[in-house]
Amino acid sequence: MTKKITIAIDGFSSTGKSTIAKQLAKKLAYIYVDTGAMYRAVTLYAMQQQYISKEQFNKEALIADLNNIELSFTFNEDLGFAEMYLNGSNVEKDIRTIEVSSFVSQVAAVSAVRKKLVREQQLMGANKGIVMDGRDIGTVVFPDAELKLFMTASADKRATRRYKELLDRGDNVKFDEILHNVQERDRIDSTRDDSPLVQAADAIEFDNSDMGLEEQFERIMSLVNDRLA
Ligand code: C5P
Repeated sequence: MTKKITIAIDGFSSTGKSTIAKQLAKKLAYIYVDTGAMYRAVTLYAMQQQYISKEQFNKEALIADLNNIELSFTFNEDLGFAEMYLNGSNVEKDIRTIEVSSFVSQVAAVSAVRKKLVREQQLMGANKGIVMDGRDIGTVVFPDAELKLFMTASADKRATRRYKELLDRGDNVKFDEILHNVQERDRIDSTRDDSPLVQAADAIEFDNSDMGLEEQFERIMSLVNDRLA
């Protein structure tokens, strides 16, 4: 049987983690899990139940309701990746809005939320053959992953990428709003008490501010091949 490994990809917001993760999963025929989508889906649920808004965040109500949140991924053949489902509904588009982005880091700082999602993520990766991206994959979810990557890029480059993505989707957003959101999420994610975003000691850093997708893919695939040899 061919050897299978676990690939953990962490890093700041909009550093292209999901792009490289999808490329790797396709090439290796591995499962790809976007853990940010899971935190976003819990945030969408909290918004729907009015546990969180610009004025307030009722953490206790969300924590008491966590058992009623069922998350799952279903592979979409046309898109080539798995879409996020919340209690049976496809929420892939709804979780990518600027509103969800503006609340998600507060929700992701709640330990009970992290505990639930980390447990689910560890189950998904129990048999290896997985590429998972997020903020705590190499440090908390899979500390024994064979390959850990830590992605960075300048805030300006990252905000420009995210801005283009949202414009392409037809969202009405302003660049400054996106830049602020990216910086604010990085700040909250890096300074929270539970599982802050930090580079694992054995992670390889990739600054892709000025690196093309093809070059990045080739360099990372060579790291993967070393681990598989
Ligand atoms: O990856 P994405 O930008 O979609 O993640 C959205 C948010 O979810 C992050 O800003 C962070 O607050 C949270 N997150 C997390 N841990 C992960 C993945 C995402 O705290 N493993």
